[in-house]
Amino acid sequence: MHYLFLAITFLGFLASCGKRITETTPKLADNFIFQDLTTGDPIFLEKQNTSCSRYDFDSESINFKLHLFLSGRDEYVMKNFDGSFNRTLLKNSFLQIISETVYGEEHIYYRNLAGQTFFSQKGGKVVDVCPEDEEIRKNTIESVALNANHYIVETYQKIKKIDPSISLKPLKISVSLSLKEITEVTRTGNKIDRVVMTYINNAFYNPLLQTISFVPHGEEGKKSCFTTNLWEIPSVISHEYGHHVFNSLFKESGLLINNQGCYDDTFSESKNASEASVNFVINSLNEGFADFISHYALPENERGFKGVTCLESVRTVTSGFFPNNNKKIFGEKSLSILFNGFTEADYSPLTYINYFDPHITGAIFAYTSHDILSYLGADEKQKIKIMLDWARRLKLIHSSLKNEKPRHYLEQAFIEMIKVALAQTNRNFDVEFCHKIDENFLDLSAKISQCSI
Ligand SMILES: [Zn+2]
Repeated sequence: MHYLFLAITFLGFLASCGKRITETTPKLADNFIFQDLTTGDPIFLEKQNTSCSRYDFDSESINFKLHLFLSGRDEYVMKNFDGSFNRTLLKNSFLQIISETVYGEEHIYYRNLAGQTFFSQKGGKVVDVCPEDEEIRKNTIESVALNANHYIVETYQKIKKIDPSISLKPLKISVSLSLKEITEVTRTGNKIDRVVMTYINNAFYNPLLQTISFVPHGEEGKKSCFTTNLWEIPSVISHEYGHHVFNSLFKESGLLINNQGCYDDTFSESKNASEASVNFVINSLNEGFADFISHYALPENERGFKGVTCLESVRTVTSGFFPNNNKKIFGEKSLSILFNGFTEADYSPLTYINYFDPHITGAIFAYTSHDILSYLGADEKQKIKIMLDWARRLKLIHSSLKNEKPRHYLEQAFIEMIKVALAQTNRNFDVEFCHKIDENFLDLSAKISQCSI
């Protein structure tokens, strides 16, 4: 578990240090010792059809029956893809939402003893879907690819309708990605000890490669948290696209955003005593933003994490409590742990919530934003528009805040969200609203001049 946590940090580090990644993997001696600390073997997916008999659809109306997990149940539902495809290839150059969909890629992040980092990328075939296979089988490349395409297009279109001026570049989807991090531990002569970490049970957005990737599940994960395939949960796919939206609105601020593995529940078991940094605050805002956008971009019966036990209360935006019944607010406990430092007294194995996981602190941001926007009477479209405009505002105020204390950054980012929300709902600060702010963020109203009158 410890190595796993290190490895996640490592990948995050790599993503934020693009220049140090080279295109080649170093040449290695033949007789190295291999210490494998993977959390389980990935179950790579098969292609349902490897040789389509036709390369064109009969009619303009393209439908596929897909396995999805909706409102806590497995469903097998027909979904329409009209206008989404270029022939049978899963890309849509006309719509400019998805540039390509590939499967079977291998990414290796390698760090040698000297601390040099390398990135190699190989393999990858373009996913095609066959017109004769209307019924898509579970656990196939086509199943992930079509689900991802469907919900990315849906999320994109919802956002574009609400905010036509937004510019979102086409992105790539990588399905059944083999993702490894290899770290040299010792080197004696031509003998090298390495720690190999294989990623499973996850999905993530890579801002450098502009790619949404789905890594395979593993046997262990299937037995515990992920009895449902992540790619069958619409919120998972839409959340990843939410990162693309945040990155598109915020990236110019000179800070590369990284987030790897949006659904790693092992995070919640690890303790981290360090104090939150500005970078951590931004990562958390990014995670919360992605949860928020995914929630409101999807239709009511397709949003949230109902029935996904390890994610249901943590990641459902409208749920105000964590599984241990801690309130999802920036209250005394969460702020103290984040910004005054973690102590052993804060830890109890049964009830511990790790605020140093950006998804946890992000979930607080998502819920508190939802609560405040609902209080102001914003409808669902306004809620999306407010968050998009807030991300633009954050980009503008970022340079004046980035050298401030992390807590100050978080407070100002939250106040900015409130200001955007008030402007768009034609409301003003008043005593009751200032009290509402404090319910969600301890004593924040004292830092808002309009609340002190
Ligand atoms: Zn995420």
